[in-house]
Amino acid sequence: MTDSKNAEISSDVSEALSSSEQQVKIAKSEKPPKGSIIMSGMRTTGRLHIGNYFGALKNWIELQNDYVGYYGCMDWHAMTTSYKSAKDVTADARDMYAEVLAFGLDPVKNVLFIQSQVPEHLELFSLFMMITPMGWAERVPTWKDAEADAKANDTHNIGRFTYPILQAADIAVYEASHVPIGHDQIAHLELSREVVRRFNHLYGGKLPEPKPVFTETPTLLGTDGRKMSKSYGNTFFLLQEEDELTKTLRATPTDPARVKRTDPGEPTKCPVYAFHKLFSPASDLPWVENGCRTAGIGCGDCKKKLGENINGLMAKPREKKKELLQSPDTLDSIIADGCQKARLKARETLDHVRSWTGFKSGPN
Ligand code: SF4
Repeated sequence: MTDSKNAEISSDVSEALSSSEQQVKIAKSEKPPKGSIIMSGMRTTGRLHIGNYFGALKNWIELQNDYVGYYGCMDWHAMTTSYKSAKDVTADARDMYAEVLAFGLDPVKNVLFIQSQVPEHLELFSLFMMITPMGWAERVPTWKDAEADAKANDTHNIGRFTYPILQAADIAVYEASHVPIGHDQIAHLELSREVVRRFNHLYGGKLPEPKPVFTETPTLLGTDGRKMSKSYGNTFFLLQEEDELTKTLRATPTDPARVKRTDPGEPTKCPVYAFHKLFSPASDLPWVENGCRTAGIGCGDCKKKLGENINGLMAKPREKKKELLQSPDTLDSIIADGCQKARLKARETLDHVRSWTGFKSGPN
């Protein structure tokens, strides 16, 4: 893996996607000082979908030249809901790691790790659980919203309840000063800040209270036209194969007013148009808009063009991912190197934590 190869893929995909109307923007006023430690992660629940890319990976790639990024494939977080299929979670972590590399996240500029390979996360998590009042975790809005669903899905477990505290440990274990988040995630970050503040107050610690780097993420429509959500099964996998993509697009609903080919449509009522805005060059949008409104194009033509544009953008990352999976030794050594670097930093933090709290370190 060379930096230049990664950079080339990254700039191809990122620049093309930045030309879309709904690009992710990092709010300038929240820019951290250069060289700050940034931490973020993605739950490893399968292949990367649009939400993972626009909500996280794209930001990580944009931040990688200016900051020290610790980015994780968070398999312990995936276990909170997928504990019955632990082997899939492990496989997903490796697959996700290959995909983030394929999209151009640089393993030299950043520290890329798999959460379960850095056990220090769990040590700090245990300590944070001791000092966090129950009420703090109970008031996190996503827990309240998810509780009924969790009961119905047999995922009403302690791990799911305490995952915001694990998130606090994920951040603090790298002494990260900043976390890229959307405005809807502020409650989680606030809990992390409170836990760290309490820790510092109780033990005279010096862990940084993490600050947000706000990002704007488009509201993404799923392939059924509803809000994109894993629980609806309407996500859109980025590196799906061409024939799989064709099937996905064929099944994607269009403006319901276009019953016949000769009926004019309204693109703003159509998920296919929303995908065009994300993936197609700006120069294609008038063709879609006018063609749809005048019935000059059919939905088949419109989906075909979208498929070509997505395939064009994803060709290099798709190829790069295949290359990585076909060279397991190379991939495993990149993963091992990233996890090793993450552990070094995490151990250093835990040494501080142990000295502040008075616990002795055991033998290595
Ligand atoms: S032409 Fe395109 S934008 Fe218009 S309804 Fe069909 S798929 Fe949607």
